[in-house]
Amino acid sequence: MVLKEIFLKGFKSFGKPTKIPISPNITAIVGPNGSGKSNIVEAIQWVLGEHSLKNLRASEKFDVIFKGSKKYSASKSAYVELTFDFNNVEYKIARELNTSGENTYFINGEKARLKDITNLFGANGMVSIIGQGKIDKIAMSSPDELKKLFEDAAGTTIYIEKKKEALSK
Ligand code: ATP
Ligand code: MG
Repeated sequence: MVLKEIFLKGFKSFGKPTKIPISPNITAIVGPNGSGKSNIVEAIQWVLGEHSLKNLRASEKFDVIFKGSKKYSASKSAYVELTFDFNNVEYKIARELNTSGENTYFINGEKARLKDITNLFGANGMVSIIGQGKIDKIAMSSPDELKKLFEDAAGTTIYIEKKKEALSK
């Protein structure tokens, strides 16, 4: 699975619909303080089901919806769409939250459950995000914590969870 593009509409500082192409190798996003670099990373985490408000630097779930600026009025919903390439097949994974609190996930435009999205990734590759300030934490991790990190990155956590689920039945 290769991330090809991020599309943001009404997510955090992205009041203006924005497409961010991702190069096949390394993409660096540069910009002044407060220009939205971290918001882009959080947008990826959000589509992939991030629940932790702390990780999204939000005090409530609605904080991800663009609050408005001098140029643009506040958005009625936050929408982020990630385009992935998997063996030359395109997958569009999206999440939308509106101001009434309706939260929807999509796979290729069809409503989906978060579980369907995690299953897709668990089986097809890895998504690993090491955030600002996390390097110290990794260096200080216990062997067990490091093992968990590698399992997440290798995409095997899903099988451990499936095993637990099967054994509990
Ligand atoms: P730094 O270089 O300091 O790490 P950055 O480029 O990572 O900065 P971000 O932290 O991504 O910047 O962006 C912060 C900006 O996003 C702030 O100006 C903040 O007001 C704005 N912002 C966050 N949430 C919203 C929202 N819901 N509506 C409008 N703007 C928002
Ligand atoms: Mg930042």
